Amino acid sequence: MSKMIEITAEMATILPLTQVFEKQKARSLSLRKESLKERIARLRKLETWVQTNRERIKKAVHADFHKPLLEVDTSEIYPVFTELRHTLKHLDEWARPKKIDATLPYIGTRSEIRYEPKGVCLIVAPWNFPFNLCVGPLVSCLAAGNTAIVKPSELTPNTSRLLKEMALEVFDADVVTVIEGGVDISQSLLALPFDHIFFTGSPAVGKVVMKAASEHLASVTLELGGKSPTIVDASANLKDAAKRIAFGKFFNNGQTCIAPDYVLIEESVKQKFVEHLKNEIQLLFGEGKSVDESSVHYARIINSKHFLRINDLLKDAVERGAKPEPLGSINARTNFMAPVILLDVPTGAKILDEEIFGPVLPVLTFKNKEEVLQQVNSRPKPLALYIFSNHRSFREYILQNTSAGGVCINECVLQFTHPNLPFGGVNNSGICKSHGYYGFQAFSNEKPILRQKSGWAGPYLLHPPYTEKMKKIVDLLLKWF
Ligand code: NAD
Repeated sequence: MSKMIEITAEMATILPLTQVFEKQKARSLSLRKESLKERIARLRKLETWVQTNRERIKKAVHADFHKPLLEVDTSEIYPVFTELRHTLKHLDEWARPKKIDATLPYIGTRSEIRYEPKGVCLIVAPWNFPFNLCVGPLVSCLAAGNTAIVKPSELTPNTSRLLKEMALEVFDADVVTVIEGGVDISQSLLALPFDHIFFTGSPAVGKVVMKAASEHLASVTLELGGKSPTIVDASANLKDAAKRIAFGKFFNNGQTCIAPDYVLIEESVKQKFVEHLKNEIQLLFGEGKSVDESSVHYARIINSKHFLRINDLLKDAVERGAKPEPLGSINARTNFMAPVILLDVPTGAKILDEEIFGPVLPVLTFKNKEEVLQQVNSRPKPLALYIFSNHRSFREYILQNTSAGGVCINECVLQFTHPNLPFGGVNNSGICKSHGYYGFQAFSNEKPILRQKSGWAGPYLLHPPYTEKMKKIVDLLLKWF
């Protein structure tokens, strides 16, 4: 009697994913042989789709968390165009095999580096820039000649659905498939033997991803988060600093991985800086008045879970003696929180340990530069570090004595869209860089190829038997080459 195989619920979710993966695996072999022209055509098709569907993208992201429509243009669509156009312009140069000079012991050989696709890649994205953080990495992935399974966040269902439609309208399913779902789907995907995993999200989940990747020794790009310090000394132009910090912190409602997490202001100018900051926040998000629920310039907190998380951080700090300065209304019923400046935050407050990822900005003070280091270096290495100062020696002191994924001086968040700069964290804030050439590199295997000539060749000098004559050659080699 034949035995029936019982299909468990777990197998039922894994089965179709395995099929998608296997189809992509098969296709990835033919993509290796594709000409650059075909890759470029695929990217151009994507560019055209983004151009013609701009309104659909804006509507979807706005529906997910009220991101102002123009902010969708500037922070979701524009960075994708920058990535696409920069890649299209330079791909030929990046992908070309690079001739490598021979050093003296290698005379007679010829070497080159070829960029081969890694194969089948997984892109797992967060919700805070739901379009940008799926499509940006996808550009680098396709530019390098890979296939991709993309898993957007379950917290932005409108954008995730649109991404799925985009994939169906633009790509063959065995080249790009968007799979919607939450943690369970993400974990089922992570169990598959991908060649590269590009993950954007929290450090805690980054560890889950890296552990899963280690099962198959898949390479990883981890774009994580953390507490990005923003240091302002007394020499800075305080009005400019306040304007730029207000924008960097509160656009997207503070839900930005590279948003200033806390400010360290030199004590002597604290009062003046805070006045500028309040003023600039209201000018940017409340048309000069307090920021309330009618503001169309201010995104919203993604959901009640995050509202409660941020509110708990705020409550804990206030209970310990911190002074909140809300610049508008707070409404738990609608998850609305206007920008809040938090002063006199005591050590031990949870808000000084956890990534805030919301519209609360603690302003701490320092008397000397050693105190700045104490604050910054007692926390894990941040994704971004911002210095507002007109003193070169102060800036250099901070740069030399701290580590961060990236730095802006007298500016914040702008590093993200610069196409020639690598973007990413360090240790707890991320592993490996992305954007432009660095993204292409992350999705490529840089394959060195060395070609030897026929007949006698230099390495023969080092083959056994190990004679006295050879000892002299080795001595020379160790001394000079
Ligand atoms: P998250 O880590 O909770 O989720 C990110 C993705 O991982 C989602 O698609 C989710 O479905 C999936 N996921 C969640 N838990 C999982 C698990 N246990 N196993 C497998 N997959 C899981 O992050 P988030 O809340 O969506 O985004 C906020 C975080 O992302 C912040 O820490 C922020 O700093 C960071 N972030 C970093 C960057 C960057 O470029 N470095 C950009 C944006 C956001």
